[in-house]
Amino acid sequence: MNTYDSLLAAVTTDDPEAREVHDPATGELIGRAPVKGLEFLDAALDSATAAQPRWAGLEDEERTIYLHRAADAIEAAAEPLAQLLSREQGKPLNGPNARFEVGACSAWTRAAADTELPGGVILDDESGRAEMHYRPLGVVGAISPWNWPMMISIWQIAPSLRMGNTVVIKPAETTTLSVMALVAVLNQVLPEGVLTVVPGKGSVVGAALTQSDKISKVMFTGSTPVGKQIIAASADNVTRLTLELGGNDAGIVLPDVDPVAIAEGLFWGAFINTGQTCAALKRLYVHDSVHDQVVEALTEFAKTVPMGVGLDENNLLGPLQNQAQYEIVDRLVDSARTGGASVVLGGDPDPDAPGYFYPTTVVTDIDPHAALVVEEQFGPALPIVRYSDIDEAIRLANELEVGLGASVWSNDRDEAKRVAARLEAGTVWINSHGGLHPMVPFGGMKQSGYGREFGVEGLKAVSEPQVISG
Ligand code: NAP
Ligand code: MG
Repeated sequence: MNTYDSLLAAVTTDDPEAREVHDPATGELIGRAPVKGLEFLDAALDSATAAQPRWAGLEDEERTIYLHRAADAIEAAAEPLAQLLSREQGKPLNGPNARFEVGACSAWTRAAADTELPGGVILDDESGRAEMHYRPLGVVGAISPWNWPMMISIWQIAPSLRMGNTVVIKPAETTTLSVMALVAVLNQVLPEGVLTVVPGKGSVVGAALTQSDKISKVMFTGSTPVGKQIIAASADNVTRLTLELGGNDAGIVLPDVDPVAIAEGLFWGAFINTGQTCAALKRLYVHDSVHDQVVEALTEFAKTVPMGVGLDENNLLGPLQNQAQYEIVDRLVDSARTGGASVVLGGDPDPDAPGYFYPTTVVTDIDPHAALVVEEQFGPALPIVRYSDIDEAIRLANELEVGLGASVWSNDRDEAKRVAARLEAGTVWINSHGGLHPMVPFGGMKQSGYGREFGVEGLKAVSEPQVISG
């Protein structure tokens, strides 16, 4: 599996009924992805259930060794994994894209292996003695999205395995091959039944997975509407949930910034993965006194970042991953323009060009309640709203139902922290946006979901706390 061809052969099928997978940059056929149904899901759940007691019965140290071997396997197959990811997802090899994503997969796997386990003595005095233990839950059902398909799948898989659970994972339909390839690489070293991928439709296989009484926990990353369906489905079996849902992250630029110095950070905060990132900067509020300079510095930087076919080593931005997402971005920018906003960069896709390319787009003079501001664009189009009163900017930032990330940009750290404390978001970054670390908990407030991933909090989330008292 350490060449592109062998990896592709391991995950594609000749079945003419299977789904054709096309490179979103060129339209070229990559291969056919299997689409499985409920029988396959049931068999996967049965084998995960059968494998779980033995996996949980291993010493923690043994699972740690397995996870490090899994990370080694990812590293050995890193280049073919990155190529397949680039071709199926569209993201370029270089920059914070495909190779970076595969590197994050091994890094997060090692971090999940090395994090100190939660638990221990929590009470030991004349009033009594109590210990906290974190037990395996059983089988974890994981459902991942198409924007960072390998990395987000690893976020769900690695901590679950560390804590003694087995995993059945359902990838997003449009990035099935990437997740199947990752799982095939991991399964070179994992025992049978511990990790199974079920390629299939979300509305069929995904829904059945979340309703199954064979799982104890759902790890879901995706949209808020599907998250709400999963909450409803969880009621019957009181299934545990970690939900990483949609975001519409605000950034607030205070008047004291150096516009040129922050331009690169603003750019990558908004446009990483061509804007298809849950915690990307999706609406920017800039103080009137620096507004024009910030817009100019950001657009000048944006013009230097090449967009194109993923396998071209020079490109740093790619296409939208699928047509539905392209249409959302196109509609939102068009409606901003019709509403009187200024499109100062981009906004003019070539409808006849191959692939789902939408140019890097910056929109100013926009109504703070325009659809491009209040809806999640999930693409390379950033609206910039001018403000003069910080209370008003904070009010606008907080008025949406979502609260995944946010950022404050200022040379005065204390002032930035005061603003950060007033923002309703699971993470508030200062002078950057979107950076994640495997030891720092990540998750959303409000309708961006609940539960936290990474670090000790992430391990607790895939286990059942038990008190032993006495
Ligand atoms: P989505 O439509 O919610 O799909 C996510 C996953 O759920 C896919 O695997 C999908 O399968 C599956 N699914 C669809 N319907 C389902 C159902 N009824 N029951 C169970 N599973 C079902 O989201 P998306 O379009 O892939 O991703 C974009 C959204 O995800 C954005 O809103 C973005 O902000 C959010 N996101 C959040 C984070 C985060 O960490 N908070 C990270 C990345 C993305 P199919 O593909 O087969 O339909
Ligand atoms: Mg979808």
